[in-house]
Amino acid sequence: MSQWSDPPPEHAALAEQFPPLTNHEAIVEADRCLFCYDAPCTHACPTHIDIPRFIKRISTGDLTGSARTILDANLLGATCSRVCPVQELCEGACVLGADHKPIAIGRLQRHAMDHLQASGVDVLRAGPPTGRSVAVIGAGPAGLACAGELVRRGHAATVFEKRELGGGLSTYGIIGLREPIRVALSEVEMLERLGVTFRTQMELGVNLDFAELRESFDAIFLAAGLGTTPSLGIEGEELLTDGLWYVEQSKLNWGALHVGRNVVVIGAGNTAIDCATIARRLGAERVTIVYRRTKNEMSAYPHEFEFALGEGIEFQFLTQPVRALAKDGQRFGLECAQVRFTDGASRRHALEFVPGSEFLIPADQVVKAIGQQKPPLAALLGLETAGGYIRIDVEHRTSIPGVYAGGDGVRAAGACSTVMAVEDGKLAAQSIHRMLAAKPVAQGV
Ligand SMILES: Cc1cc2nc3c(=O)[nH]c(=O)nc-3n(C[C@H](O)[C@H](O)[C@H](O)COP(=O)(O)OP(=O)(O)OC[C@H]3O[C@@H](n4cnc5c(N)ncnc54)[C@H](O)[C@@H]3O)c2cc1C
Ligand code: SF4
Repeated sequence: MSQWSDPPPEHAALAEQFPPLTNHEAIVEADRCLFCYDAPCTHACPTHIDIPRFIKRISTGDLTGSARTILDANLLGATCSRVCPVQELCEGACVLGADHKPIAIGRLQRHAMDHLQASGVDVLRAGPPTGRSVAVIGAGPAGLACAGELVRRGHAATVFEKRELGGGLSTYGIIGLREPIRVALSEVEMLERLGVTFRTQMELGVNLDFAELRESFDAIFLAAGLGTTPSLGIEGEELLTDGLWYVEQSKLNWGALHVGRNVVVIGAGNTAIDCATIARRLGAERVTIVYRRTKNEMSAYPHEFEFALGEGIEFQFLTQPVRALAKDGQRFGLECAQVRFTDGASRRHALEFVPGSEFLIPADQVVKAIGQQKPPLAALLGLETAGGYIRIDVEHRTSIPGVYAGGDGVRAAGACSTVMAVEDGKLAAQSIHRMLAAKPVAQGV
């Protein structure tokens, strides 16, 4: 896979936010842990990492053993240590949170994973070859976790990825402040060394044929994530900057990203907060997030909202964009209207315009960060869906025999997150393994 280097110093504003713990800091923090029996932090982790065990190993100086414990449950432990909403998960469940400070589980996990990466030691081993092979579509967290778990069980796994680099949104989507690209790519390299085969710039439905894959592999795992940014359907939409593109440029194309002085971001989830942060950190004087509902309905987590406020980002709630305007050649404005919830209706759905409330928010850049479209592969492959997402059963099987799916593309309910995608990949690999163990050897789905 392609080489990558860290951003130059002039992009320090978007460099990783938290410094690593020193060895001393890590040991002091690890020593605070009560090593709880039936630990609530482990229950709260979607991948069920044995948290007291990996922390114990840090406190005894066994950082490699600690990283091994993490990887046993979560092959993307380095990414998850940075991007997981730990306040809502493990740290939120830590028994020390009630009276004291919860253990800094995320930062300890990062300490162990960084040590492993720097040491160059490989702790993962491929299982004895079974002669079975699985095609994985997409090199994001779900695909990587599935491929790695399959190889650990002795199956050959080939990941087909449409882009040049692996890592999915960890590489292309999540702001560098939270996760630098090198972390995502080092996980891809670790899996490559384990024995996963990567074939990049191969896109299912473009230069990769589904029928041929079904003939050549014993199973297929679909982990292609979601689609592009949906349309707002407003006049002047072509004047808006795409939010996913904006984040990607900030990570891969430093220097080329034009940031306005007065930036408006439309949306209220991860992408919106990331875009607003990028704009602010790269010099925008004023950044306003416009959202048609209230703070309570935002899909961003409360700590992200607080973070955005700390960055000086303003919020304009109950505000609906009506049209984007070009003025004086390059300058833009976003015409909006106030909206309100209709009486007695569910706050999630029913909104109405407040008559005569139209107003213009002056802006020289308007970024559209309203999430992603439902998974395009569902329609392409004729898969059964649930609310537009790929329908799977408890074994992660889709409606096509031998074809499994996981990650954002199946997340019909609940927020999309990296750790959930990793868990999907792990569980799907276990299901595929069970299916292959029960099936006589003969290639093809
Ligand atoms: C801006 C942003 C910020 C986020 N921040 C966080 C965060 O802080 N914490 C967190 O937990 N989650 C965050 N998320 C969500 C998280 O990134 C996703 O939940 C996670 O990446 C989903 O993993 P996945 O493997 O399902 O999909 P993806 O990461 O989207 O990976 C899918 C892969 O499939 C490839 N692909 C697509 N179609 C094809 C095809 N036809 N053929 C071959 N390959 C294909 C894509 O190129 C991509 O590499 C964020 C998301 C965004 C957009
Ligand atoms: S809940 Fe807190 S104190 Fe208990 S094992 Fe987990 S991190 Fe340690």
